[in-house]
Amino acid sequence: MSLLIGSHVSISKGLLGAAKTAFSYNANTFMIYTGAPQNTRRKPIEDMKIEEGKLYMKEHDIKDIVVHAPYLINLASYKEEIYNLAQSFLTTEIKRTEAIGSNYLVIHPGSYTTKDINYGINRIAEGLNNVLAKTTQPFICLETMAGKGSEVGKSFEELQMIIEKVELNEKIGVCFDTCHTHDSGYDIINNFDNTIKEFDDIIGLNRLKVFHINGSLNDIGSRKDRHANIGADISNKRGKDYIGLNALYNIVHHPVCDNKPLILETPWIDKTTNLYKEEIAMLRGIK
Ligand code: FE
Ligand code: FE
Ligand code: ZN
Repeated sequence: MSLLIGSHVSISKGLLGAAKTAFSYNANTFMIYTGAPQNTRRKPIEDMKIEEGKLYMKEHDIKDIVVHAPYLINLASYKEEIYNLAQSFLTTEIKRTEAIGSNYLVIHPGSYTTKDINYGINRIAEGLNNVLAKTTQPFICLETMAGKGSEVGKSFEELQMIIEKVELNEKIGVCFDTCHTHDSGYDIINNFDNTIKEFDDIIGLNRLKVFHINGSLNDIGSRKDRHANIGADISNKRGKDYIGLNALYNIVHHPVCDNKPLILETPWIDKTTNLYKEEIAMLRGIK
């Protein structure tokens, strides 16, 4: 069993800076946004210190890194401007992901706002059909969503309905987020085995490429999507993690997580402090 674990890291100092930050957390993988998650302004690929970053990763045994597309990409939008931007940005994001040498581009499927779930599913699949080409290298990993607002992807069935409508769906993978699946109602605390069996029955385990490992500030089925620090309790003022260290430890050591990138997106304590190093150590089982 080989544990590939890391966190989201900043790419403000290029891929090299990102890899160094990950190494300082004792991570052996990591996830980046190619720029600010809230906007679509991006540095040219040449300025991203990619070759230096790749060399550093090789020397420090860091691999299978993940790229996350920005939140504002909404392939379910009925507004042409937003829908077109989502497709054009996704197209360039695929190029950046390829340049970085990552095999996984995670996207939130989208939100249908005033339309309905079937509209959302069809719109997302159509957008993916427009963007995907036979030459596309990375897997586009649809993330399991908490189901807040009109988010598409709150169940394995919804994700599978999108996948079935995508022609080149050999390029589609899934990113399983522990906070989101818990918030959308899957009992990953007491019955992770069963959740994984359901995933296999509905989508197929071959699609499962990436995990986001997060606690949740809310109870199962809350549909809130508020990440908690791993195993946090009320006493440290960071709010209670309703999933808890025990459950998350068992999840990351489950055979389904073997050799897959496991990425923390847990909250920062303040602008300069995070707990990634400590959380990675806890999940590895180093006391
Ligand atoms: Fe996400
Ligand atoms: Fe996530
Ligand atoms: Zn989330």
